[in-house]
Parts: sequence; C-alpha cells; structure tokens
Amino acid sequence: MTDFAATRSQFHLPPGMIYLDGNSLGPLPRAAASRIARTVDREWGEMLITGWNKAGWMAQPAVLGDRIGRLIGAAPGTCIVGDTLSIQVYQALASALHMRPDRRMILSDTGNFPTDLYMAEGLIGSLGQGHELRCVAPEDVADHITDEVAVLMLTEADYRSGRLHDMIALTAKAHAAGALTVWDLAHTAGATPVDVAGAGADFAVGCTYKYLNAGPGAPAFIYVAPAHAGTVQPALSGWLGHEAPFAFDPAYRPGPGIERMRVGTPPVLHMAALEAALDVWDMVDMADVRARSIELTERFIGGVEAACPDLTLASPRQAQMRGSQVSFRHPQGYAVMQALIARRVIGDFRAPDIIRFGFTPLYIGPEEVDAAVAVLAEIMGKRLWDRPEYKTRAGVT
Ligand SMILES: *Cc1c(COP(=O)(O)O)cnc(C)c1O
Repeated sequence: MTDFAATRSQFHLPPGMIYLDGNSLGPLPRAAASRIARTVDREWGEMLITGWNKAGWMAQPAVLGDRIGRLIGAAPGTCIVGDTLSIQVYQALASALHMRPDRRMILSDTGNFPTDLYMAEGLIGSLGQGHELRCVAPEDVADHITDEVAVLMLTEADYRSGRLHDMIALTAKAHAAGALTVWDLAHTAGATPVDVAGAGADFAVGCTYKYLNAGPGAPAFIYVAPAHAGTVQPALSGWLGHEAPFAFDPAYRPGPGIERMRVGTPPVLHMAALEAALDVWDMVDMADVRARSIELTERFIGGVEAACPDLTLASPRQAQMRGSQVSFRHPQGYAVMQALIARRVIGDFRAPDIIRFGFTPLYIGPEEVDAAVAVLAEIMGKRLWDRPEYKTRAGVT
C-alpha cells in the first residue's frame, strides 16, 4: 500500500493553502531545491563541460524516461525525456504521418488541448501535401475512424472536463483501420494507471510539470512502441538523435531505438528537478493513486452538489470515465475561481465557464476536499464572487 502521509511529507505546501491545481502545475518536491543546487554547484560549477560524461547529463533523458515509463506502462528503453510537450506532439505526429504515406487524414477531437491541434495545423502547412486535420466531437471519434485516417491523435483525459477516452478500444479500432495512434498523456501520466504497451499505442507523449511535479517548464517525454522504434524517421532530426552525435557527420543517421527521438541539448537543471520529483513516484503504486483519487473526486462532487445548486457538473459522473480532476460550470466561473483563490483555495478557470479542480493523492487528502467544499459553499451561498475585482481577467487563467 502506498503511504500517502509519507508522500505528502515530500512536498512543500504553503501553509493555509489548499492546492487543487496539481493538474496544471504540481507543487515543489522538497528535495528538488537541493538537487538543483547540487547540480549547479557540484556539477555545472565544478565539472563544467566534463559534467556531460562525469555527472551523466547526457544519459539522463533515457534514465528519466525509463522512470516515467514505469508509470505509463512503457518498457525500459521505449520512453525518453526532452523538449516541451508541444514539440513532442509535433515529433510524434510528423513521425507517424511519415509511416502512412498513402493517407492524408489526422483525426482528433474538439476536446483536445489547443496546442496539439495548432501543432498539427502547422505541421500540415509545412508538409504541403494536402493533409487534413479532422476534429470531431469526443463521443464521435470511434465512428470517424476509417481507412482514410493516417493518424488518430488524442489526449486521453480532456483538459476541461477530465473525460477519459478508451485508449484500448480506440487504439484497437485505429489499428483495424490501418491507422496509427498518438496519445497525449498530459492529464493521465501520474493521474491514472496508463498502459501504453498493453493498449498497443504507437506513440505517446506527455509533460512532467502537471501530475508528475517536476516544475514549471519541465521537459516532456515521448514513447515509441518497440515495433516502430528501430524504423521510425524522426521529423525533428536533431544532432542528439543521431547515431553518433560526436562523429559530427554532415548527414543524418537515426540513433538506436528511442534515442533517435532526441533533438537537442537537454535542460540539465530542469532534469535535476525531474529526478527529485520522480523519487517521490518511486514510493507510489498507481493503482493506489487511482483508488484514492476516485475517493477524493467522489467526495468533492458529492459535497459541492449538496451545497452549491448553482454549479453544474462538467465532468463525467461515473468515476471510471474521468481522470483525476473535477470541473463545474457557472456563467461567472472566472469570478468564482478568483473568490476561491482569494481564500487560498487554488484551482483554475478554463474559458468559457469551467472551474477546474485537480485531485492529487500524493499530497491532497479528504480534509482538504472538505475544507475546499466549505469555502466554495460559502462563496456561492453568499454570492461572494460578485465583486468587480474578481471579474478582471489576468493573462494566465
Ligand atoms: C498542458 C498540455 C500541453 C502543454 O504543452 P507545452 O508545450 O508544455 O506548453 C499540451 N497538450 C496537452 C494535452 C496539455 O494538457
């Protein structure tokens, strides 16, 4: 059994704050600051360029990729860390399209995160081969998987509602139609048990600053199924994905397996934070996280629905159908969230009317859920959100 009191003690949580936004940015693992300081002082400071070998910086993307792999059902040697998620989406999608030269359709859904769709549009423009991005309603995806589809590109958990796609069934359907799959795990890695290998996913990508807690701007990861890893042609064919980067060969030759998905120099300081964040995950069993997450989200939904009749549940009611977040709708959702934040209950707002709360068992328990419900009930009951200062929008919502 995972000891959630022990995992909680691994995080710095500001006193008096109820942090329900770990689905957007995880909190600071206590060990991260000293780990980064050590990398700065002893490695960068003392070793300088020799740190690439002596401190193992060059191997870190693969080492950390394997540790993330454990959380997403990826075998060692099939997942690697680097760049940002937008870049990894491009890398995965472009590489997948290259494997289906006779097809022109990318199928996605209207619930996908905008950057995934934007990167697809940009890629289509660069390719100039007449590809089409078709976005259908999430519930209609299965019906649109035809033999025209080159790549099915989906985010497993909807960032607004937390609705989960059936990764196993949709991947099987895509394969039956001769299509490949790119799964974005931004809201499921570290939130729900994921089994990319079991589901037969061709490519998967995700970020490490949400549920995995590696800090703002932490590098993303990419998984390639072992069946493709030796043949896939990376679209972003950077020097560190080359077979022999230090041969400085003018011609590109892909590196072995997953290594070829690397692009350029990895962010060493940020990998130190990721390493500290992953130490906490070594204490955790994903099945326990899921059970506890369901307990917390059920408790929150029950509490809010009992106390706040003006809020409408925007997440699936059935626990198995949602990730680790709960969303409600309200026409003044932005102001409601600002009123919550002013009382140190932190969630976020997603246009046009969604207030969103992430439940992260590593550091959130039933006491925080009950306290958040009480604050929200007071805000709604007394219309405390109805103040001009709560309606002025900041750049980041
Ligand atoms: C958070 C998120 C992103 C963010 O991409 P970055 O390149 O890290 O800014 C992309 N896709 C999805 C589905 C996300 O949830």
